[in-house]
Amino acid sequence: MRKLEQLNFDNTFARLPAAFHSRVNPTPLARPYLVSFNPAAASLIDLSAEESARDDFLHCFIGNRLLPSSDPLSMLYAGHQFGNFVSQLGDGRAILLGEVKNSSGEYWDVQLKGAGPTPYSRNGDGRAVLRSSIREYLCSEAMHGLGIPTTRALCIVGSDEEVYRETVESAAVVTRLAQSSVRFGSFEVFYHRGQHEQLAQLADYVIGRHFPHLLAVPDKYSRFLHEVVERTAQLMAQWQAAGFSHGVMNTDNMSILGLTIDYGPFGFMETYNPAYICNHSDHGGRYAYNQQPQVGLWNLSALAQALSPLVPEARAEELLDSYGDIYSEHYVKLMSGKLGLTYAGLEDYTVIEQLLKMMQTSQLDFTNTFRGLSQFKSACGEKNSVLRDQFVDRAEFDQWAELYRARLKAEPTADAERKECMDRVNPKYILRNYLAQAAISKAEKERDFSEIERLLVLLSRPFDEQPQMESYAAPAPEWARHIEVSCSS
Ligand code: AMP
Ligand code: MG
Repeated sequence: MRKLEQLNFDNTFARLPAAFHSRVNPTPLARPYLVSFNPAAASLIDLSAEESARDDFLHCFIGNRLLPSSDPLSMLYAGHQFGNFVSQLGDGRAILLGEVKNSSGEYWDVQLKGAGPTPYSRNGDGRAVLRSSIREYLCSEAMHGLGIPTTRALCIVGSDEEVYRETVESAAVVTRLAQSSVRFGSFEVFYHRGQHEQLAQLADYVIGRHFPHLLAVPDKYSRFLHEVVERTAQLMAQWQAAGFSHGVMNTDNMSILGLTIDYGPFGFMETYNPAYICNHSDHGGRYAYNQQPQVGLWNLSALAQALSPLVPEARAEELLDSYGDIYSEHYVKLMSGKLGLTYAGLEDYTVIEQLLKMMQTSQLDFTNTFRGLSQFKSACGEKNSVLRDQFVDRAEFDQWAELYRARLKAEPTADAERKECMDRVNPKYILRNYLAQAAISKAEKERDFSEIERLLVLLSRPFDEQPQMESYAAPAPEWARHIEVSCSS
């Protein structure tokens, strides 16, 4: 484990030509204080946890001091925002300090979010508020705990400096780690500017860094697109199975590695509602929960268009056509797993769909219903009363239970063993909005960060029973049902 000054930077993205980024230093923030530090993420860059106690740590991760061998820059990209192409976006408030190569040879982007204006800030102030930084920090680690590909979060450092949103809030910087911060929009910007040489250079860079097995194949660009299609389809299936809504699936927020990136007004669904919209400025529901799989495809089409100078049109179409099946296969597999089925057949779709329909009618909690399902007793004559009583239409439940029971008969596993498997895929704990909100309120009002710590630990083991934390598995209490998460960040 290393000290701050010894982090092993090897800045491959910074070595790309100037067209790809803008060199920019973070803008200092006064009186930094530690909000939270995540030792699990620190180990990814070989950073010793003891370093978080140093003053230098605060100054480095709020952007007041530069780490030796870092090479700060903001990345250029474009993107389709709510369907409209915006020709230049770029990191308006994120600054990539560089890439750390760890002792296992992995590369991790180390990026400060909220570290001040960049050449891509447009009218923004380059800052992030404490509230949204806490949400991003907790959610990315919660997603990791759930086994969903995501950026990671190293720490939050706060400052007393004011940031103006709907109200006056305080500034914070969250340090994100990612194997790559390249987005679909990173390709779109060069395609739409007609800079095909840079487009190919970026594709070669990404393939070399992240898909090295494709370097020697003749149709490497098509194969690359194929892998992005697969990863995106898989990610969408994982989001759906976890009841997660991203909220702003613009192509500039789509990772080329299929990671969950750029957490904004995201939400974990509580009451099952397929039309759930977590972003309250998304009036048309473009990015509603049930739209995500098809938006994934829409975004991939935008990427395919950007790659059209490198991937023949017919091949791209074929790849996009394969998305639906890849998605469905992953989705059915994940959902069957949530029902404790060890293999997934097409007929299982009916069992899944019927259950979801009943959950919707009965307005049941998505997470807790699946978690509770592991109690299902498959013996004939078993009423499964605790589960059954949650549904408004008991006769309908009984019909479904018969179907499920019949399906379980074909399984090699007994009830107890199945329960164990189900509890490993159906989380007990998710980042419910009200839990995040409680941690935010304490942090904002009392400068008490203990709740952030508690959630970080809790959500790193979302599948484990943690008896002393039982109340954190409860759906939002009445007072918190209608909290609207501000979309400003
Ligand atoms: P998002 O959808 O939140 O990922 O952001 C869309 C674009 O707006 C990105 O280019 C961001 O860098 C930029 N942006 C968001 N907030 C700010 C801000 N406060 N200052 C500067 N740029 C911002
Ligand atoms: Mg973004």
